[in-house]
Amino acid sequence: MIIRLINYIKSIFTGSDKKDSMTNLILFGPPGSGKGTQAKNLMEKYNLLHISTGDLFRYEIGNNTPLGIKAKEYMNQGKLVPDEITIGMLENKINANPDVAGYLLDGFPRTIPQCEALDVFMKSKDQTITGLIALNVEDEELVKRLLKRGETSGRPDDSNEEVIRKRIAVYEEETSPVFGYYKEQNKSHTVDGVGSLEEIFTRLSTAIDSLL
Ligand code: AMP
Repeated sequence: MIIRLINYIKSIFTGSDKKDSMTNLILFGPPGSGKGTQAKNLMEKYNLLHISTGDLFRYEIGNNTPLGIKAKEYMNQGKLVPDEITIGMLENKINANPDVAGYLLDGFPRTIPQCEALDVFMKSKDQTITGLIALNVEDEELVKRLLKRGETSGRPDDSNEEVIRKRIAVYEEETSPVFGYYKEQNKSHTVDGVGSLEEIFTRLSTAIDSLL
């Protein structure tokens, strides 16, 4: 009883109870699988801060910052931005937003070194990754969706089929091992990413609820 009381008082000062109960999710899947679209609804439902590394890079590009200028070279070719740049940017974003119920990561981690860096970073904050949910969509459907998005998104990497196919190949080679990394920790789950937005949202919510 006394120990519980001491721990409770400690938690008031350290905030450790809040951190233990944070929900940190990775929304995973190839380009065009619908991560960004679904993340917008999921962040509202679960009250999470949505962090898309692609959006952060596009913001930097829009402001013509040194980071944006560097990232653009890689993005326009459909390649991944180097890990050291990406990891630093993600950590800055999390450090700048400590008072949230959790994070919904979209487009990060995309390599095994990014997973390892994320684990170390989370541990340093007394936090963990709650789970990874992957959206499963066939390659030809991805190409179709991205070309369609390119008609209105204004994204150079969406309007060129060669770049789109390169991004899918990079996903298969460099990013798909991320699923196995979290599967080893029993944290990876897959959801069918084809159907109406509502159907996919329901599937994602069911998968997330099973983690909480
Ligand atoms: P997205 O908006 O997630 O499709 O990302 C667009 C582009 O940003 C990718 O094709 C990469 O060039 C870059 N990018 C976004 N997230 C990452 C990441 N975690 N690691 C490396 N590059 C990334």
